[in-house]
Amino acid sequence: MQEKMNLLRELQEVDQELAGLATVRAKHEAELQDLSAEKSRIQGMVDELSAQLDELQKEDAQLQQEMLAEKDQITKVEARLPEIQTQKEYVAVLKEIDMAKKASLDTQAKITEKETGITELTADLEEKQAELAAISEKSDARQAEVDKILAESDATCVARQATRDSLAKDLPNSLLSKYQRIFSRRGGLALARVVDGACLGCNIQLPPQQYNRLHRGKELQSCPHCNRLLYMDRA
Ligand SMILES: [Zn+2]
Repeated sequence: MQEKMNLLRELQEVDQELAGLATVRAKHEAELQDLSAEKSRIQGMVDELSAQLDELQKEDAQLQQEMLAEKDQITKVEARLPEIQTQKEYVAVLKEIDMAKKASLDTQAKITEKETGITELTADLEEKQAELAAISEKSDARQAEVDKILAESDATCVARQATRDSLAKDLPNSLLSKYQRIFSRRGGLALARVVDGACLGCNIQLPPQQYNRLHRGKELQSCPHCNRLLYMDRA
């Protein structure tokens, strides 16, 4: 039994290392996912700002067209002034010119407003584009680093897995599956050392009889409290 427990202890060391590698891998993958989500979020903002800017530019172009038409209209009406015969018609034409000029001023004010909006949006867009470029660069660089780390970790995993397989083949299946069950249920600690009659897995004192049986080392002993497989360090 002693020999089997020694094998199990080696196996547990390898399994703990494999579990550690899996945790590190998951952490790296989560970090990359976070970066990618952040990148998508900023890309979304860039897309939205671009669409808003497009829209404003279209509206601005349309207003510019309207203003040109209004100026044409003023020129045309003003050209009629020298041909006017009556005071009444003169007043009417002046009134028409005045209204056309007001409309044109109105359009000019709208254009100014649009252009202020365009300037602000362009600044926002440039800021977000710079942010996107920075996060893309960071994300690409991190991806390259993590790829390298994970490739090394994969190589270590393969090596440890081979060690694990060779340890496992010397252990009876029933013992192995018992160990595995406890390992996954008990947070990666299936074996517990016994010191001064207490299980160090749960820090509870073993019954004296069991402690004696463990001392003899003839049969497998499980902690009655935490169910971990018990071992003692022997001089
Ligand atoms: Zn215990």
